[in-house]
Amino acid sequence: MPWVITRLCTDCLDTGCVSVCPVDCIYEYIGPDKAQFRNQLYINPDECIDCGACEPECPWQAIFEAPAVPELFADDTELNRKVVDLSDQFKIKTFQATEHPTPEQVAENKRKWGLNPDA
Ligand code: SF4
Ligand code: SF4
Repeated sequence: MPWVITRLCTDCLDTGCVSVCPVDCIYEYIGPDKAQFRNQLYINPDECIDCGACEPECPWQAIFEAPAVPELFADDTELNRKVVDLSDQFKIKTFQATEHPTPEQVAENKRKWGLNPDA
């Protein structure tokens, strides 16, 4: 069962997830359709080996195992799958350290996307 990066990653890109993925299956979008593909990272579901190593590394709590993706973010699972369908429009992301968010920023980001931060 692959893992999914959701919209909670948008504009974060600290790439903590990338630094631990043993199979380099986390990608950024480099194609022209910026309206559909937000500025976030995406997991190739066919390459993900379901190790779960990325999830605890994500300071924005943006990564979920496919069955646990919040209903509100259901479309994000399909967007991650596009890495397979549109492989020429994605490239493997390399590590790029940034500052981690505060708990308040993480909660505010969840609220922004309609998620209850206490759920
Ligand atoms: S679950 Fe493992 S293989 Fe899949 S994206 Fe995360 S770190 Fe990579
Ligand atoms: S660690 Fe989380 S928020 Fe940061 S790039 Fe990876 S999925 Fe996005």
